[in-house]
Amino acid sequence: MMKNISIIGGGFSAWLIAAIFSKKRFSVNIFEGKSKNFGSQQIAPNGWLALNQIIDINNIKSSFEPLNAIHIKRINSEEILELLSNYELINNVEAYGSISRENLIKVLKNKALSNKNIKIFESTIDHIIPNELNKELVDSEGRVFKTDFVIGADGVDGVSRRFVVGSNKNINFKKIFRSVSVDNNPYNLTKRVLQILFHSQGYFVIYPTIIKNKKATNYIFVPSNNNFLPPQITSKSLLYLIPQNLNWITNFVPHDMNEKTSIFKKDVFLFGEAAFPTLPHLAQGGNQILEDAVFLKNFLENNDNLNEMVRTFIQKRTLKRNLISKKSEIVGQALNSQKLTKHIRDLLIQSKGKDMIDNIINQVWAS
Ligand SMILES: Cc1cc2nc3c(=O)[nH]c(=O)nc-3n(C[C@H](O)[C@H](O)[C@H](O)COP(=O)(O)OP(=O)(O)OC[C@H]3O[C@@H](n4cnc5c(N)ncnc54)[C@H](O)[C@@H]3O)c2cc1C
Repeated sequence: MMKNISIIGGGFSAWLIAAIFSKKRFSVNIFEGKSKNFGSQQIAPNGWLALNQIIDINNIKSSFEPLNAIHIKRINSEEILELLSNYELINNVEAYGSISRENLIKVLKNKALSNKNIKIFESTIDHIIPNELNKELVDSEGRVFKTDFVIGADGVDGVSRRFVVGSNKNINFKKIFRSVSVDNNPYNLTKRVLQILFHSQGYFVIYPTIIKNKKATNYIFVPSNNNFLPPQITSKSLLYLIPQNLNWITNFVPHDMNEKTSIFKKDVFLFGEAAFPTLPHLAQGGNQILEDAVFLKNFLENNDNLNEMVRTFIQKRTLKRNLISKKSEIVGQALNSQKLTKHIRDLLIQSKGKDMIDNIINQVWAS
């Protein structure tokens, strides 16, 4: 009999894994929950290469905004921008850019839904019951769904991670703010360039994107501590780049993860952010999830054994995932330097910025 796979989650990883299982020899139920997929994310060459193996890349090219350079600047006390380093991406121009999450998910969803064996439920799963023979999922309305295998793609704070890991109590959460502007001014100022701007209370990451077919600018503000809000800019020239009317959305991202856990228990396999919570400082969370998906896709080409799939995945992917998490944490600490160390950081970026970026991206962007 055809095995039933249940995917919990309606975000990027859920639809990505659904696309992988489409056309394979399984029936798939996907429980979408109340998905909110806001803003854009960077696709790096490793992610682009992986995405190319999952979907027809031509379906997404028109909403891909290429990035050709990374500029690092400091906002001084008079709110004037001082350039610390500008890095031109000579070799990676074709494959580094930004893409709206909504659009990316739409394309993955279309791919997944080309499978006749997939059913979507707009349902939030509250309980996972691991019986001897099968698993049962209970949603918030008390409906029960029987399944053979569960893929938990419901994020760092979802029911799947709590089931597999036990609790989230070892994870501290850090506040990060996101916003989007569809004004022309910031888009024209950021075209083709990703900007990292140091401020006394944290740092901004600003880059152009395309949202709902409109030119837009994506903003992230990472405060150096959870009490800081995105700063109100007053200088006229800087307001062109960071307008005052931005509507900031607060996200909580995992931080200080002093845990070593599994990603699999009783036929519940964690995927995406649920499996490997990753700080966003290297913008690799989604890119690594794409690499994970390609790994699973290649495995499933020749083998339907799901337990073996999980075992091979853990053996081959965990090391890289942990390394990226560690690197992301270190980069975050450097970007968020305060007091004396921030002067050292700025001096280092001024003198060695290009080499530093080269070193980081050459290692991380390699597939
Ligand atoms: C500020 C920031 C910037 C980032 N920038 C980048 C970037 O530039 N490049 C990059 O590659 N990555 C980036 N990332 C990482 C990337 O966004 C994540 O890796 C990716 O969104 C993770 O997707 P996910 O589907 O695993 O988890 P989530 O996005 O958390 O999605 C989980 C989904 O599960 C649903 N859900 C939860 N509980 C249930 C339930 N009980 N039942 C049913 N559904 C449920 C939720 O509604 C949600 O839709 C960034 C992250 C942040 C926070």
